[in-house]
Amino acid sequence: MSKIIAPKGTHDIYMPEIEKWHFLEKVTREHFQAYFYSEIRTPIFERAELFQRGIGRETEVVQKEMYQFEDRAQRKMVLRPENTASVVRSAIENNLFNTFYPLRFFYMGPMFRYDKPQKGRYRQFHQLGVEIFGEESSFLDAEVISVAFSLLNKCGLNNLNLEINSVGCKECRPSYLSVLSKEADKNREDFCKNCQRKVDTNPLRIFDCKIEKCKEIASDLPKINDNLCDSCDENFEGLKESLFYFGVDFKINPMLVRGLDYYTKTAFEITSNQLGAQNALLGGGRYANLVEELGGPKISGIGFAAGMERIILHLKELELLRDKRIFIVLQKPELLNEGITLCQQLRERGFVVLMDYKSKGIGKQLKKAEKANCDIALIIGEEEISSGLLSIKKLRTHNQLQVKRKEIFKILKEQI
Ligand code: AMP
Repeated sequence: MSKIIAPKGTHDIYMPEIEKWHFLEKVTREHFQAYFYSEIRTPIFERAELFQRGIGRETEVVQKEMYQFEDRAQRKMVLRPENTASVVRSAIENNLFNTFYPLRFFYMGPMFRYDKPQKGRYRQFHQLGVEIFGEESSFLDAEVISVAFSLLNKCGLNNLNLEINSVGCKECRPSYLSVLSKEADKNREDFCKNCQRKVDTNPLRIFDCKIEKCKEIASDLPKINDNLCDSCDENFEGLKESLFYFGVDFKINPMLVRGLDYYTKTAFEITSNQLGAQNALLGGGRYANLVEELGGPKISGIGFAAGMERIILHLKELELLRDKRIFIVLQKPELLNEGITLCQQLRERGFVVLMDYKSKGIGKQLKKAEKANCDIALIIGEEEISSGLLSIKKLRTHNQLQVKRKEIFKILKEQI
């Protein structure tokens, strides 16, 4: 019979890789909680309109990458391609803007984009991210960037580049866009088909194009941060100064416009030198109008999303903070009762313990302990029992020592 395989661009996650996920999830939760963020979980499918209105109809994500389907009642649904629009939808629907303080949320979960799969780019991938609503201050923008930066540092990622830009606002962007469109029109013939369309529909998105020729032309087009209104200009200056307070180094990239339409003013991206083509780890920015555009109050937001798979790719060399594992080894099958009792006592105290009920021979059990990637074997022998002792064998170093049975919990706590 032919084998059924997972859909292209998806992958199963299991041992030992799952340990990296647990590590990342734990560090992320603790990190965000320290900054007063609370977790929000939204559905993985939403009405298609949410993303069409939220992200923008002309973006690559909406044009080409959404997993869209009709449910049995012919409603147009989408597997979420990102989570900002969903968090905003949820905050409006649940009246969080009026009832919740502080409006600081974090999330982790799967996103879906019909993208061309390659290393670091998948069709089902995971993002962790934050969204803050209410306060509009360049200090807050800098804090959000610093939260992102320090999280990556905590995960052992150090070789990072932070790029920032201002993408303007409702006041300054329309006049800039008409200048941009006119200038881009002069090169219309040389752009790819997609960018030719963008010249008329949404010229800012030309800067998102990955095609070399388009990138080259785009580098000579007028840039948004040379065309900012006073308020955006002031905000951008403030951001640079505030980043200094938070001790974060940055580079200004006037071509950075982010792939989603809702950004206003601050936009940023963190890349890594170690990732090859898919070097973007994280991106975000401020969005002053999204909440209102989705039917909520006039309230500004800021957030970022990081690709968890891409962070995981970096975790390879990390000594993970996973719990140490114990294997109970019996010298004889008759000691099973002793073994099960000890096993349960250890598990109740929070240790990670495995034993093999059928195993014969210490050698075979030790092999299984190694196969299960255990750190310690606890050997129960007949003689030791009569003298109230147990043997601890450290499987990484092969050191062995005898300890008193009644002190085993205390000693393991110290050893592990
Ligand atoms: P975006 O939502 O497009 O701003 O992306 C934010 C981050 O999500 C990126 O910097 C990537 O790390 C990650 N990301 C986006 N698309 C994918 C994908 N198809 N596969 C894996 N990671 C992705």
